[in-house]
Amino acid sequence: MTQAPQDADARRAVAPVICYPGDRLPPPDPALYARARAGAEKVAEVIAPPREAAAFAVPAGQFFRISSIEGPQVGDLNLWNAHDLTERFYSGKTRALHGTHVTTGERLWSSFPALRPMATIVEDTLGWYGIDEFGGSVHDVIGTRCDPYTHNLLSGGQYHHCCHSNLTRALADHTGLSLAEAERHVHDVLNVFMCTGFTRDTGQYFMKASPVRPGDYLEFFAEIDLLGALSACPGGDCSAEHSSDAATCHPLLIEVFAPQEGALEGWASPPVNGYDRSHGR
Ligand SMILES: [Zn+2]
Repeated sequence: MTQAPQDADARRAVAPVICYPGDRLPPPDPALYARARAGAEKVAEVIAPPREAAAFAVPAGQFFRISSIEGPQVGDLNLWNAHDLTERFYSGKTRALHGTHVTTGERLWSSFPALRPMATIVEDTLGWYGIDEFGGSVHDVIGTRCDPYTHNLLSGGQYHHCCHSNLTRALADHTGLSLAEAERHVHDVLNVFMCTGFTRDTGQYFMKASPVRPGDYLEFFAEIDLLGALSACPGGDCSAEHSSDAATCHPLLIEVFAPQEGALEGWASPPVNGYDRSHGR
């Protein structure tokens, strides 16, 4: 242990500064989303079976809803620009901009160089949960995804139904890419319905039983043409363990809704980021 300096307490007592105050971001227009959603009709649905993933397409200007059905279940979500898989959900920047967990009015941002909103959360039936006494909350952008490599590192063996592999298979099946090619596009997820945090005393990533119940949902507005994949995590409600077949798992429902013609008047899909990419040269 290193020796603390004389002024250690004073240094620790410095107040934090929010890195990216929310009011600096271009604001979404909830009234416009609500108007568009009011007359929207369901155009597609797909089920992510337990310990499997499903891929789905959502054109810009449509809504998609992820629902708990049958029992508490956590979902690992990947999003891509439907026309360019290299533009994908950027969990780390979304965390920096909105915090460790996301809810209504917040956005899922895409990777560089686009860095634009891919989707906006328009409804969250778990919005009441807030931050619990352990520092836990739902829908995190702090976890990565359960994966067979970490499982092998920690436990040995070959487990094929981690979210990473489920998402890889779903993307490969949807696009025709090989598993090896598809795997390179799988990225850190939005942990839908998962309840997580960091312990205050040791700073370790924790999970606890998700508060989600059948009928709960998280709904998004697609800001750009999206390809999505959702894995029903082998951890089930993530109360005990993942990366095994031990937990009770349930399916997740994904539904897509299209607004009426003209309902999005005044809205435009966001352009890619304005930085010129010259990097000083
Ligand atoms: Zn998982």
